[in-house]
Amino acid sequence: MRRLIAGNWKMNGLASSLAEIAALRELTGKAACDIVVCPPFTLIDRAVERAKDSNLAIGAQDCHAQQSGAHTGDVSAEMLANIGARYVILGHSERRLSHGEDDEIVLAKAIAAHRAGLIAIVCVGETRHERDEGRAIEVVGGQLRESIPERATSADLVIAYEPVWAIGTGLVPTNEQIEEVHAAIRQILEERLGSDGRSVKILYGGSVKASNAQAIFGLRNVDGALVGGASLKASEFAGIISAAV
Ligand code: PEP
Repeated sequence: MRRLIAGNWKMNGLASSLAEIAALRELTGKAACDIVVCPPFTLIDRAVERAKDSNLAIGAQDCHAQQSGAHTGDVSAEMLANIGARYVILGHSERRLSHGEDDEIVLAKAIAAHRAGLIAIVCVGETRHERDEGRAIEVVGGQLRESIPERATSADLVIAYEPVWAIGTGLVPTNEQIEEVHAAIRQILEERLGSDGRSVKILYGGSVKASNAQAIFGLRNVDGALVGGASLKASEFAGIISAAV
């Protein structure tokens, strides 16, 4: 399956950061994978403009479940689609932790993303404590079962396995740990979506960088990566993209 490399800029990026988008668009023509960059809301429309007529897609890092209304400070999936976003990251552990987002909210947001024609990148992952208790598969499986929309397909759903303890820490699970969780995710996707579940991309996320990307991409059921810190500089992100052959 064609790999997907997704960059999550988190709360980083000013107008000057659009130069990174311009640098990346040059790479996408030759890349053997799909690439999406998710800058903060404030840069999305200008990033879409910079990525125009290239294979670089632009996404968002969150959306509200409602289409419009009295939700001060929120942005709907329709608003994102309207300015040219194609993907939206949902249920990132930072939002689960600091905004109290649970699986029910993530599901509602994923339904909203699909209503607006966006591809939902749904994030799941266990904490260090949950892994130490031997509950990683149970936790990830529970999050996944509760947050996949009934009518999801491989065309509008991507799953990102991001162990919370690996995000921004430089720690990466062992190859066996990644393969074990990705296999469990694949099984649930097949149970829920039938044979189409085999085509849903499962990304690994958590301290991916140019130096470890190739090894991670060689693992079974790893169809790409969700990259935080290493996506901020086009030169480092390019190293990850070129590992995704
Ligand atoms: C993330 O925040 O989605 C992430 C994977 O971060 P990092 O690559 O910095 O660990």
